[in-house]
Amino acid sequence: MNFTLEKSATAFAEAKRYIPGGVNSPVRSFRGVGGTPPFIAKAAGSRIYDIDGNSYIDYVGSWGPMILGHAHPEVIGELTEALMRGTSYGAPTLLETELARLITEAVPSMELVRFVNSGTEATMSALRLARAYTKRNKIVKFIGCYHGHHDSLLIKAGSGAATFGVPDSPGVPDSIASNTLTVEYNDAAGLAAIFEKQGEDIAAVIIEPVPGNMGMVLPRPGYLEAVRDITEKHGALLIFDEVMSGFRVAYGGAQEVFNITPDLTCLGKVIGGGLPVAAYGGRRDIMELIAPSGPVYQAGTLSGNPLAMTAGIATLHLLMQTETFYEDVTKMTAALCAGIKAQAEKHGFNFQFHQLGTMFGLFFSETPVYDYASAKQSDIAAFNIFFHAMLEQGIYLAPSQFEAAFMSGAHSQADIDATIAASGNAFAKVA
Ligand code: PLP
Repeated sequence: MNFTLEKSATAFAEAKRYIPGGVNSPVRSFRGVGGTPPFIAKAAGSRIYDIDGNSYIDYVGSWGPMILGHAHPEVIGELTEALMRGTSYGAPTLLETELARLITEAVPSMELVRFVNSGTEATMSALRLARAYTKRNKIVKFIGCYHGHHDSLLIKAGSGAATFGVPDSPGVPDSIASNTLTVEYNDAAGLAAIFEKQGEDIAAVIIEPVPGNMGMVLPRPGYLEAVRDITEKHGALLIFDEVMSGFRVAYGGAQEVFNITPDLTCLGKVIGGGLPVAAYGGRRDIMELIAPSGPVYQAGTLSGNPLAMTAGIATLHLLMQTETFYEDVTKMTAALCAGIKAQAEKHGFNFQFHQLGTMFGLFFSETPVYDYASAKQSDIAAFNIFFHAMLEQGIYLAPSQFEAAFMSGAHSQADIDATIAASGNAFAKVA
């Protein structure tokens, strides 16, 4: 059967009549790569299925949450039972305490945890808390890191903002933007210089310890340690945004892998098992400033929603249940990267592959990528050809050079083999 997205094209046109750009999150529109986004009808295991009858091996995983694969039977079973008990109560439940307990055990730097509904809310709330705790206003973020779409952090941001080349959004007041200082990722000297000048005004440094929103970039040896030292020296808080890396690069996130203790951590994606959950947490003395135990206000009608908590708990239980889960899926990820790299080299490309745990990325660049400036050297036109060639062969990658890819426990050796073979054909088209 020939690959066609006719029905999706019609659906996309219809969606545009009611929804800006036809989507509820910009990158989904395929604006960066061109063409029609497949409209998805269902998903199971490693695959998603569109309304045109195409099926794809999925490496987007709903942008990270689906580490167990789609519609995991045990998660769905727990959710179905929970559904029968009602969808939301707006009152305390045992479920919230259980998920908070599981998180504090996995990520010991998070002594207390507050649940919210999105990563955006988590980082927004963590910044407010850091400002209240330190009684300082400025914050530092890294160019190309993405922490959600609230005003303070939509400055030189990655992900969709990088894809569309609009690092700053109209509507962000200058007065807010002026409190956000930016520096390249992996540049410890640059960060130290900012602190030498303005250290007394800086409340916090927020960082994706393993960035996945400018494509996937790895920290240089000693870099995260330097960031920890600089913030500590100047009395600023260190916020690890592990919305993507948490329970993804390892069960305990990047802070477990690199053995760094941040003051605050933001989580999302995996901890909700595909439902809208995020969290921020950290040192008890800081977290106790949050209302109602302290004066820093933050609330949410659906925060700690019982369905969302149920999906999160089921997901973490399953991740813990298989002792070798991360080891196994990391090995699969490494095999996939090695296979695709070999195909790239066969066609004369010396591209950059990055991997940590179950997260990986490929830059269409012949030179090393370690920050946003080097990521931007990638050959976007070549990526776009590759992307569409993969899609037509039933491989679903993020529709942008500046996104990471994710493996799940549901991907099989046959999936890996098919993906590697497809990549050979795709690189042939690029060459
Ligand atoms: N932080 C990081 C590292 C992210 O990758 C994202 C989203 O991709 C966010 C924050 C924002 O999360 P959300 O899209 O749930 O608001």
